[in-house]
Amino acid sequence: MKGIAVSKGVAIGKAYLLDRSKFCILKQKLEDHEVENEIQRFRDAIAKTKVQMVDIKNRAEKIADKYAVILDTYTLLLDDDILVNDTIENIRKNRTNAEWTLNQTLQNFLNLFDNINDDYLKGKKDDLDLLVQAILRNLIGHSQETLSDIQEPVIIVTHSLSPSDTLSMPRNFIKGLATETGGKTSHVGIFAAALGIPAVTGIKNLTSQINTGDNVVVDGIDGEVIVHPNEENSQYFLKKQENYRRYEERLLANIHQSAETLDGHQIHLLANIESNQEAKTLRKFGAEGVGLYRTEFLYMSASNLPGERELYENFKAVAQEMGKRPVVIRTLDIGMDKQLAGIPTNDEDNPALGLRGIRLSLAKPELFLSQLKGILRASLYGNVKVLYPMISSVSEIIQANELLQKAKELLKEDQIPFDENIEIGAMIETPAATICIDHILEHVNFISIGTNDLIQYLLAIDRVNENVAHLYQPFHPAVIRALKQIFDAAKKANKKVSICGELGGDPMATMLLLGLGDLHDLSMEPHSIPKVKKIIRLIRLEEARQMADHVLNLSSVEEISQFIAKEMRTRFPDDFDRDLSFQEKIIPA
Ligand code: PEP
Ligand code: MG
Repeated sequence: MKGIAVSKGVAIGKAYLLDRSKFCILKQKLEDHEVENEIQRFRDAIAKTKVQMVDIKNRAEKIADKYAVILDTYTLLLDDDILVNDTIENIRKNRTNAEWTLNQTLQNFLNLFDNINDDYLKGKKDDLDLLVQAILRNLIGHSQETLSDIQEPVIIVTHSLSPSDTLSMPRNFIKGLATETGGKTSHVGIFAAALGIPAVTGIKNLTSQINTGDNVVVDGIDGEVIVHPNEENSQYFLKKQENYRRYEERLLANIHQSAETLDGHQIHLLANIESNQEAKTLRKFGAEGVGLYRTEFLYMSASNLPGERELYENFKAVAQEMGKRPVVIRTLDIGMDKQLAGIPTNDEDNPALGLRGIRLSLAKPELFLSQLKGILRASLYGNVKVLYPMISSVSEIIQANELLQKAKELLKEDQIPFDENIEIGAMIETPAATICIDHILEHVNFISIGTNDLIQYLLAIDRVNENVAHLYQPFHPAVIRALKQIFDAAKKANKKVSICGELGGDPMATMLLLGLGDLHDLSMEPHSIPKVKKIIRLIRLEEARQMADHVLNLSSVEEISQFIAKEMRTRFPDDFDRDLSFQEKIIPA
């Protein structure tokens, strides 16, 4: 059965079928005098669900910060006007029982979701559904089978998995996960990836084809679930599992080596992080510092906007953890795909072109100042740098720098020490910044290329719209030319260049990126570091330059992609030809 691979690895074992099928909801008509009682019963169920969700969130924080952030959306939804007030209004108007009325509200919501072209929101649809099931359970008074009784290693097979399920699971016994609902952005995907449990989601009719005790394989590499594998299949997946394990092990073997090409050019490999908790683990992947601290998540996970002190303490913890290693803290980049409850900007028609990134910070100087002061104060404890997101003109950098100067003066007035020479950088992620790169470079110490947005804006392709996802092409000649222009200008200005978008962590692009210019560092999801490092250590800069020169002369995405894939597969068959590395042969230990 084919599904979505959301967490890598291969799990082989016995299935544990978790019954999370939905309730059968009956419609009941209420007498007039019963209506207010019914509404109270509904309110009680909401309140109870809220308490349960907060409890789950507190427990989740102990497992993974990023995962706890997701659970906040559940609590927010319980305060949602449409979900709660619409249901109450309809109980009154239609005189129908709470279960039925809530279910109707849910159906309306789900229809709405179906018409939304947003991958991220679509992923959230399953989460909303789960939340309503939790409220329904509280209304019906139905307690469900708990996973905490599992005593042996199993592969969980289920329609869906609620946040409380994921937390009550004895994690040592969960070898793999297979679900009918959910995707990469839903909490199941994030949970599995955070814990490294092989997982496949989105398989229709999965639960009707598997029983508890059945032998199953969850292939989180290629997104497949196999029931009752025969002897030949079993051998094949055992090999694939072992190969993947060895492959990961071998990659991690290089973590103490520097990312240096065969002809002696060193690139620094840094990590992208979203919470200070991650700073503790990134060294185990060989990260040499933090190249991008996305601070939005600090704001998204808090019920109130974090103040200067809270920010300072958070940043200080990262700076201290990293010691002399760099920590690049990006100022708030709210807007578009990252929304804040306290600062709503999502009613804009074109949020990607709206009040996001530095524009929002300049429009709300108080908010920006508290960030800048938090960063400055933390700068005393390590090698901290500031990074401004979504720069599209020199005047934005000038204004931002003026506010940075003001933040310094305010701290001086209060006799609070900081690093006077803190470096500042601009993210290059708009076409305007690319075209005017020479001017921008005059005002900063370094630049960091945000390829995620740069590709979106250069190609006019919404990065979260599934209808145009096939056109989101990092290897588009326009992207490569833009990168080349940026590198050339930075070399002339003698300024450092970093790449912190996803492309920087894509091993397929590593050689090309090195060839395009003088790359100071690449910043990426920490788990991508070992593979990118492996490639850097096996190439010569001279060859990378030749590759880039050739690619710059090609005119289409197809030509470029094919050329790069062929080159990389020939040079690194174990890394780019999955058939070879994980399936057909055993990699020597
Ligand atoms: C980018 O745009 O490439 C980037 C790193 O920032 P974000 O993904 O947070 O927009
Ligand atoms: Mg960006």
